[in-house]
Amino acid sequence: NEILERVKEEHELGEVSYKTWIKPLTVHNIEDNIVTILVPSERVGLEYVSKKYTLPIKVAIAEITGQDCDIEFILPEDAERMKNTENTSSVSAIAGLNPKYTFSTFVVGSNNKFAHAASLAVAESPGEIYNPLFLYGGVGLGKTHLMHSIAHFIIERKPGMKILYVTSEEFTNEVIEAIRNGNNSALTKFRDKYRNIDVLLIDDVQFIIGKESTQEEFFHTFNTLHSARKQIILSSDRPPKDMDILEERIRSRFEWGLMADIQSPDFETRMAILRKKQEMDGYDVGNDVIEYIAQNVKSNIRELEGSLNKVIALANLEKREINLELAEKALIDIISPNEKKVITPDYIINVVAEHFDITSDDIKGTKRSSKIAYPRQIAMYLCREMTNHNLQAIGKCMGGKDHTTIMYGIKRIEAELESSDNAKNTVNLLKKKINPST
Ligand code: ADP
Ligand code: MG
Repeated sequence: NEILERVKEEHELGEVSYKTWIKPLTVHNIEDNIVTILVPSERVGLEYVSKKYTLPIKVAIAEITGQDCDIEFILPEDAERMKNTENTSSVSAIAGLNPKYTFSTFVVGSNNKFAHAASLAVAESPGEIYNPLFLYGGVGLGKTHLMHSIAHFIIERKPGMKILYVTSEEFTNEVIEAIRNGNNSALTKFRDKYRNIDVLLIDDVQFIIGKESTQEEFFHTFNTLHSARKQIILSSDRPPKDMDILEERIRSRFEWGLMADIQSPDFETRMAILRKKQEMDGYDVGNDVIEYIAQNVKSNIRELEGSLNKVIALANLEKREINLELAEKALIDIISPNEKKVITPDYIINVVAEHFDITSDDIKGTKRSSKIAYPRQIAMYLCREMTNHNLQAIGKCMGGKDHTTIMYGIKRIEAELESSDNAKNTVNLLKKKINPST
C-alpha cells in the first residue's frame, strides 16, 4: 500500500485514476527480483497499466525498499494457468540469485578491480586457491552483485557442483529454527544441508556476529567445509578487524584466505556504470545527463542506478525527451545542492542500531549489558559530533536521559578513541554510513 500511495503522490494521480488503475493492484509473487503484480481487470487494463506505470512502480519500490527489481503484470486467468504448469517447469538457476548480477554486467573500475579479479579467480577454481574469499565494502557498492556473479559462473561452467547462496539472515533463521525444534534430527538436517556442498556463499556476514549460537554453528560449518577444501565466500560491510564482537578464532579464519575490499566508485566508473545500465535498459540518455548524475550521486551505486531510473520514469510519465532540465527536476530530492540533508539524532540512532544489530529501542532504553551500552554511548557521541543538539536535547531523543548521562557516555567514547584503533575505525565507519560525504 505504501508503494501504491507513493505512486499516487509522486505522479499526482486523481482519485478516479488511482482507484481505477493503481489501488486494485496486488503482489502476486516475488522471485529472483521479479515482482509479479496481479491486475484484476481486462487485458486492455493490463496493457495500459504496464505501459504507463511500470517505471513509476519500479521507482517507488526502489525508494521504499531499497531494492532494484523488475516488474511483470499478470491477469487472474494467467495466474491460474501458471499455477497449473508451475510444478512441471524446470528452474535452472538456484533460488535467491538475481539473473542480472553476472560478471558480464559488472563494470570494472579502479575501486573494485581487485575484488573483481579475486572473485573471477575463485569462480574459475573454486576451493583451489583463495579460501575463504572475503569481500567487504560499504552499502550498495557491488558485493552482492559479485557474489551472485561467482555463483552464476560456477553453475554454468561446473554444473555438477553444489552451490548454496544465503544471506546471513537466512542462515541465522535456519540455525535458530533448527535449535528451537530441539530434536537432533532438525540440527542434523541443517548440518547436512550446509556441509554437503561444494561452494557456500554467505552475504552480509556481519549480521551473524554477536549471535552466539549462530556464530558457533557458523564456526563448525566453516571448519568442516574448509578442511574438505570446499569454497567459502563471504561478504561484509567491514573488514574482520573492525568486527568488534567477533570471536578471535573466527576472525583469524576470515583472514586465512583472501580479503578484497570495494571502494566507492570514481567519476569514470560511475559514468561507465550509468552508460552500461542505460544501454541494457534500452534507453537513449544523453551524455550531459549521465554526467550530471555521475557528478552528483557519488557514494553508492544503488543510488546511482535509482537516479537514472527516476529520470527515465519522469520522461515516460511526462512524455518528454530526456534532457538536463528534466534530470534536474527528477532528481531535485536527491541532488539538492542548496539544501543539505539534515542529520537528526533519530537517524543516527537508527544507523548505529543497525550497525550493531540491535534495535533503536535498545539504544533508547536502559539495559546495561555491554552489547547495548557501548553502541548507546557511540550513538551519544555521534549525536554530539554530527548534530547541533545540545546534551539535554540529545538526552531527550535517547528516550529521556539526563544530560549528565549523555556527558558521561561521550566522555567514555572519547577516552576509547584515544586508546583504541578499533573504536576509531568503528566511529569512522559509522560517520560514513550516516553522512557519506564526510
Ligand atoms: P552491496 O551488496 O555491496 O550492498 P549490490 O551488489 O547490491 O551492493 O549493488 C547495488 C546495485 O549496484 C546493484 O543493482 C548492482 O547491480 C549495482 N552495481 C554495483 N557495482 C556495480 C558495478 N561495478 N557494475 C555494475 N553495476 C554495479
Ligand atoms: Mg548486498
